[in-house]
Amino acid sequence: MIYLDYQATTPLAPEARDAMLKWLDGPDGTGFGNPHSPHRMGRMAAAAVDLARDQVAALFPPGGSVHFTGNACEAINLAMRGTVMKGGQKQGRVAISAIEHAAVRDTAMAIDDPVIMPVDRDGIADTHANLPGDTALVCIMQVNNEIGTVQPVAQIAERAREAGALVLCDAVQGAGKFAAPGGADMIAISAHKIYGPKGIGALWVRDGVDIDPQITGGLQERLRSGTLSTALCAGFGAAAALAAERLEADKALASSLWDRALDLFEGWEVNGSRELRNHANLSIRKDGLDVARLMSDCRDVMFSAGSACASGSGKPSHVLKAIGLSDAQAKSTIRLGWGRYSAVEDLEAAAKVIINAAAQQG
Ligand code: PLP
Repeated sequence: MIYLDYQATTPLAPEARDAMLKWLDGPDGTGFGNPHSPHRMGRMAAAAVDLARDQVAALFPPGGSVHFTGNACEAINLAMRGTVMKGGQKQGRVAISAIEHAAVRDTAMAIDDPVIMPVDRDGIADTHANLPGDTALVCIMQVNNEIGTVQPVAQIAERAREAGALVLCDAVQGAGKFAAPGGADMIAISAHKIYGPKGIGALWVRDGVDIDPQITGGLQERLRSGTLSTALCAGFGAAAALAAERLEADKALASSLWDRALDLFEGWEVNGSRELRNHANLSIRKDGLDVARLMSDCRDVMFSAGSACASGSGKPSHVLKAIGLSDAQAKSTIRLGWGRYSAVEDLEAAAKVIINAAAQQG
């Protein structure tokens, strides 16, 4: 099998796995302690959580704190509901870009009828979008998960600040690939997109931003209740440290695979800007392509139709629609994603399979 779905999730880095093992049990059986217990085993676990927190914090700007959550969806819900629905009272409107992930989009719809900030045909959000005076929160992602485009977070944050609103940046697809987004008050990331384990995410909160907890029951994580998994924290921390260390090397590999992929898929249309993007994400389309048939004909290649979350819903992706594609064009799109452990030979072999299967469709 060839894995080309790095936007859905990434393999666990061996370094992250090694960092986790000791805290699942440990050779001497002392790794399983509760990091919130005051005894020695608890303090050992707490020290590992503290180290992980520092390692994850290094991915964010200075002047804030890191709160571990179960995943990025939870971090995003905490940030959005915890600032907009304070004490059960709606503080104002929510504005989101037209291409936000369902984690933001569905939460915004659940809270309110959000203001939607448009994007251009390249998939870049409009920095001059109108923000109503009562906007309480603006949500702008760093990198889109479906088409890979990089968003002007700092400029939109400046507009939001002028309107008196807070800014949440979903940096799930940008973390470990780009420097931390500037200007945001809250930033959400997820371990499993940066070669860490599934089941843990983080919300970075700028000092002074007040958030209502959403899960009560001890507030072990200050804004969030529930016993932390030392192993997941340790794996996340190791993955974050490695991502920072390997940022340039990972980027160089991604760019060289991007160049090769463009050659291989010559004649296919690329969705989204070719320049302002994550070059580990290739969203392409071919008129008339039956993507469901293609996926079933290419069972040994792991890739995606649009985003993993939208796949299977049958509805054309809201991201592809937002950049002006017709329903038919959106439905003839596939997404290929590569990363640290991808080899050019695998990309070439996968492209051959996909291109042959597409050609069979006539
Ligand atoms: N935001 C973006 C841009 C994503 O790509 C994803 C996952 O695909 C999420 C949020 C949700 O992340 P998690 O799986 O950690 O809840």
